Amino acid sequence: MTQPIATAIAGSLPKPAWLAQPEKLWAPWQLSGEALEQAKIDAMRLAVDDQLRAGITIIGDGEQTRQHFVTTFIEHLDGVDFVHRKTVRIRDRYDAEVPTVVGPVARKRPVFVEDARRLRLLTNQPIKFTLPGPMTMIDTLYDQYYGGSREKLAWAFAEILNQEAHELAAAGVDVVQFDEPAFNVFFDEVRDWGIKTLERAAAGLPCKTATHICYGYGIEANIKWKQGLGAEWRQYEQTFPLLAQSSIDQVSLECQNSHVPMELIGLLDGKEVMVGAIDVATHRVETPEEVAATLRKALQWVKPHRLIGCTNCGMVPLPRAVARGKLQALAAGAALVRAELGWG
Ligand code: ZN
Repeated sequence: MTQPIATAIAGSLPKPAWLAQPEKLWAPWQLSGEALEQAKIDAMRLAVDDQLRAGITIIGDGEQTRQHFVTTFIEHLDGVDFVHRKTVRIRDRYDAEVPTVVGPVARKRPVFVEDARRLRLLTNQPIKFTLPGPMTMIDTLYDQYYGGSREKLAWAFAEILNQEAHELAAAGVDVVQFDEPAFNVFFDEVRDWGIKTLERAAAGLPCKTATHICYGYGIEANIKWKQGLGAEWRQYEQTFPLLAQSSIDQVSLECQNSHVPMELIGLLDGKEVMVGAIDVATHRVETPEEVAATLRKALQWVKPHRLIGCTNCGMVPLPRAVARGKLQALAAGAALVRAELGWG
């Protein structure tokens, strides 16, 4: 990125109440058919407008056209049966009824490419588009076709993601981000094949590539899990050295109100770092000064042109006014630090 201390959202923003039930994951749509399609497009414009008015520099679609960051992508693929569901444990944390893989997975047609074209027309700022990562995708499915081999299924998804990502880049997307919260849980798999399948998903892209690894939304199952992680969260310590050697350009980490020791940023030498300066697990809106303090601290390990102020995770479960306040705080905090460094 050309501007020092850029700012971006991790991915999602809350949806308007006329589109989906607020403050809820997997919230059902409030409309159907053509009215729903129009409403999604309108909601994306509002999500972009909120970011631009706040002064965010890398703009996303707020994931307004998706019910969920993983399932919506999978719904568009062949080989997955959404009717016959099985109960599995997601990220070793909570049980969910998930779809079943019943045949070879394949992408019938582009999934988010039309959304990306629309987003491109709404701003001249750099734009980012998010996709789920291969390991996080397999972790939300029950496999009846690939012989229970998580790795095999992950490679199949990586191929599909790569096709989609190339089309997103061709539509004018500047950053394609793969969300891999599963990287904070399955460390052996990350080392054995997780990074490789992520790199396959990102292979040959002409734009920047990013990965978002987090401790999840501020929902109950995640809050309980975090309580058992101890005083210092050092999960990133396992994956960052591997990501530092990978082809991925940008890596995110949680910082605001987090137990993650910030010196772990030092393990990402040479990468652009998305520093989570906004806590998504509280309705309390940060002050610009609090955001600035987090970003200033991050500058001990990363140069200003490689630092991107970000949210810890998606903001979809938050009230809209809170999310809007947090966007403004993020942009204002970054502006404070930019001014201190003489880029005011
Ligand atoms: Zn996240």
